[in-house]
Amino acid sequence: MNLVLMGLPGAGKGTQADKIVEKYGTPHISTGDMFRAAISEGTELGLKAKSFMDQGALVPDEVTIGIVQERLNKPDCENGFLLDGFPRTVAQAEALEAILDEIGKKIDFVINIQVDKEILMERLTGRRICENCGTAYHLVFNPPAVEGVCDRCGGKLYQRADDNAETVQNRLEVNLQQTQPLLDFYQGKGYLKNINGQQHIDQVFADIDSLLKGLV
Ligand SMILES: [Zn+2]
Repeated sequence: MNLVLMGLPGAGKGTQADKIVEKYGTPHISTGDMFRAAISEGTELGLKAKSFMDQGALVPDEVTIGIVQERLNKPDCENGFLLDGFPRTVAQAEALEAILDEIGKKIDFVINIQVDKEILMERLTGRRICENCGTAYHLVFNPPAVEGVCDRCGGKLYQRADDNAETVQNRLEVNLQQTQPLLDFYQGKGYLKNINGQQHIDQVFADIDSLLKGLV
């Protein structure tokens, strides 16, 4: 099964990726892991990517696409892959089509986990961290016994700057704007499958699983 997984921050993409990998053994190919592997193996493209990253610059598409191509040609991808974090743009999606064409493959599904922005805001801004031991809590989903106090060590809980409402709102807006053209592209190709991410984690996976069962 050749899959692309999409979803906004907080939609539960990581959890669902883990479940797909656990059940089907499909290699999970996230952009970050792919870059780290190419760099540690010292491939030509890996070194190129590193030179951009060391300067704090964005890695150009041609390098990223080359790294994806190398990764998809590895033997563990013979029976499929689960791409996560790539493609990010329509140009990258078109490049991916060309890469797959060359090796006689096509995407089966682009799985898009949909969650309303208001719910994502609640999920993402509710996080609190213990300043002493680093334990993570959530005001709604995993609250401490006493408000503002760590269950484990009695330390004070705080909200990371990354999790405040304004930052989260901005991050979601930017993501929404970047993602929409890509969703339109895949809709046009007939690959797009929207999954309701506002259900229990197990039900979200059951919906994904009922798609995937048809592929094996
Ligand atoms: Zn603590």
